[in-house]
Amino acid sequence: MTQYPDAVVIGAGIVGAACAEALARAGLKVLILDASFAGGGTTAAGMGHLVVMDDSPPQLALTAYSARLWTTLAPELPRNVEHDACGTLWVAEDDEQLEAVRAKQRVYADHGIAAETLSPAQLADAEPHLRPGLAGALHVPGDGVVYPPTAALALLQRAIANGAELREGVRVDAVGAREVIVGNERIACDCVINAAGAHAPELTPGIPIVPRKGHLVITDRYPGFCRHQLVELGYLASAHTMTTESVAFNVQPRATGQLLIGSSRELVGWDMNINRAIVRKMLDRALDFMPSLALTSAIRTWTGFRPATPDKLPLIGAWEDTPGLWIAAGHEGLGITTSLGTGQLLADLVVGHEPALDPVPYAPSRVLAGIGTH
Ligand SMILES: Cc1cc2nc3c(=O)[nH]c(=O)nc-3n(C[C@H](O)[C@H](O)[C@H](O)COP(=O)(O)OP(=O)(O)OC[C@H]3O[C@@H](n4cnc5c(N)ncnc54)[C@H](O)[C@@H]3O)c2cc1C
Repeated sequence: MTQYPDAVVIGAGIVGAACAEALARAGLKVLILDASFAGGGTTAAGMGHLVVMDDSPPQLALTAYSARLWTTLAPELPRNVEHDACGTLWVAEDDEQLEAVRAKQRVYADHGIAAETLSPAQLADAEPHLRPGLAGALHVPGDGVVYPPTAALALLQRAIANGAELREGVRVDAVGAREVIVGNERIACDCVINAAGAHAPELTPGIPIVPRKGHLVITDRYPGFCRHQLVELGYLASAHTMTTESVAFNVQPRATGQLLIGSSRELVGWDMNINRAIVRKMLDRALDFMPSLALTSAIRTWTGFRPATPDKLPLIGAWEDTPGLWIAAGHEGLGITTSLGTGQLLADLVVGHEPALDPVPYAPSRVLAGIGTH
């Protein structure tokens, strides 16, 4: 690798990995630097649900685009990425939520995303461990699951196969115009991509990203206990509202037969300790939907920090204050899903190709202009 790469990607989480992969595929000489190790940040703490979400039109555009890219890439991914096209069931508790399910189905249909509404009987048949009396669900068969750390590594391997270099244990101290500074070393390049996740503001002051803590619980192995990613419809409100604390029912079947149970959201800075009270609330919520989870054994609980922005959209594009600096950060609870769309959009912008998506809603300039900072 030359001393002067075309692009330096800061951060080898799934977003940095996807950016590196797309930039290397576009023919750039890419150097990826990570302060710790690849796939070990928030990416290692995430659930790996590949999910189309419709909280806003730009969110729907980016998640749907990314979902298409995951579907295309899936056959080429190594087995340890554990890609599983299990689909999502958005579970409705009552008739009001069922009406919201139908509205969601209409929005998805308008965007060419397959989805069907399940009756209570169909839902019980699809997932027998859910409690009786639920109103139904929206089944989104195109959604899926990956194991995030190995997904990041697989993307990095693809970048390396196209000439990229990964250096782990290298903390970037500062970013300048077309350069990064590591200790006494200055690495010159054409462009720098700040993909440092929730740490991105440390290198680019002014980025409004805060760590939004989440807990996950994983059980022992119960193959076949559930077959779809299960999410309560109320998850959307939990994710959307920037409250100090919220929980929602979210259960995922892992390839190992384990069940991943989530999820929580808290704004408590970088405190990574387990909050027993919120884990209790999260598990109570899960038990309310799936009472027989009480018969399973939880083996581990951990926390991670979603990189959250005020307007719930990531920052993807040029940071106009610093020549050559690009941002790919702030993906909150959707960074595994939207990594591929982010990488492709960013690479298209860097090399001057027409992007498949309108980049304006994700442009970091909305922050410089004061939009999205409330
Ligand atoms: C509990 C939980 C559940 C989640 N579930 C899902 C889900 O189901 N689906 C989904 O799509 N998303 C999910 N997410 C969100 C997803 O995990 C994140 O959006 C995503 O991992 C962010 O990736 P990233 O690459 O931006 O950040 P990170 O993975 O944190 O990577 C950033 C990297 O930058 C490095 N770095 C930081 N500072 C420096 C520096 N100065 N120099 C060099 N390197 C540096 C770090 O070491 C790190 O490796 C979840 C998150 C949590 C916490």
